[in-house]
Amino acid sequence: MSQQPDVQLDGLYGDLVMDHYRNPRNRTPLNDADVEAEEFNPFCGDRATLQLSLDEKGNVRDVSAVAEGCSIIQAATSMLSGLLQGKSLDEAGELGEKFRVAMKNGAEADETDLGDLLALQVVRRYPVRIKCALLPLTALEEGIKAYRSKAH
Ligand code: ZN
Repeated sequence: MSQQPDVQLDGLYGDLVMDHYRNPRNRTPLNDADVEAEEFNPFCGDRATLQLSLDEKGNVRDVSAVAEGCSIIQAATSMLSGLLQGKSLDEAGELGEKFRVAMKNGAEADETDLGDLLALQVVRRYPVRIKCALLPLTALEEGIKAYRSKAH
């Protein structure tokens, strides 16, 4: 039984998006999460839940990212989760900001630190779906904000 995406995805980028959609990474929930947030988009019923646990230096030790909804939110959440390990919260925030700008204006070819997230450029053909791609990022930002207001 193969799941079909709800947008037309083709080419290398499309394949990568489909791979994350079909085989989402880092879905195991964490018992010891320091940073935690859930975001919901009523437009298409998307939900992204993100959890991070931090080591003693404040860098991300473990990531859990679970998405429900359309193909884009599921791929985007998986892709973002793969980039957070080992990063400080500042670095995670900067990466997120870069991703947001790339989704809005298009990415520079050398923005390799965006990793698999670069593949979501295909979603720019569907402006209304950019929100789906950015939902896990909103969860990340809200989670970091809540953690900081609690911790400091
Ligand atoms: Zn969606």
